[in-house]
Amino acid sequence: MIDFNELITNYVKREIKEKTPGRYYPSEAGNCIRKVYYSYKQPKEVGMELLKIFEAGNILHEFIVNVLESEKNPDIELIEKESPFQLKVDDMIISGRVDDIVILKINNKIYLVEVKSTKSLQYTREPSEMHLTQLQIYMHAKEIHRGIIIYLEKNTLQSKTFEVKYDEEHYNKIVLRLKDLDKHIKENKLPIPEARIKSKMTWMCRNCQYREECFNDTPKL
Ligand code: SF4
Repeated sequence: MIDFNELITNYVKREIKEKTPGRYYPSEAGNCIRKVYYSYKQPKEVGMELLKIFEAGNILHEFIVNVLESEKNPDIELIEKESPFQLKVDDMIISGRVDDIVILKINNKIYLVEVKSTKSLQYTREPSEMHLTQLQIYMHAKEIHRGIIIYLEKNTLQSKTFEVKYDEEHYNKIVLRLKDLDKHIKENKLPIPEARIKSKMTWMCRNCQYREECFNDTPKL
């Protein structure tokens, strides 16, 4: 009998990737600054469970693209489904991975759309800070100032949609945050255990790959 779990594991497995200081990704801007710091200093393999969750998200994203491209939805035009960018800010490069962003034309207006899959929509009342942060960077880089975040429930294909406007002040704060991260990385200075300190971020500690290092470095707050 074949072990299908093993086949999937082989398929989604990835090599550890060393990251380059000075080059950052939108998804890092809203994450715990210490966790991102560790990911540059001590890169680790992403856990298999998480990789499979990412893969399921990619599959759903493909589904959304099919929905948006379909002739059955004539009021919407999919303009771009792969939209990479590089933003130079002083001596940093912010570069975008494109896996969950598409550009749409709705009623002759162009929107940047970020698609996120979620286990449950039950408590989704507003977009998460992390997703807003990513979208603000994309909107700035692509000079498209209308955005939409779609949360898609995996088991039911129900969704919730939020419209987001570009906010220059928010974007500037994100850049300051990335500059702070950059400084810590280049000066080998361990940042604060941010997610342990800020109540809105504590959920990030639950599945953090660097819990052990973090608690060893700072046993008590
Ligand atoms: S355990 Fe929490 S505070 Fe520490 S690095 Fe991970 S996410 Fe950040």
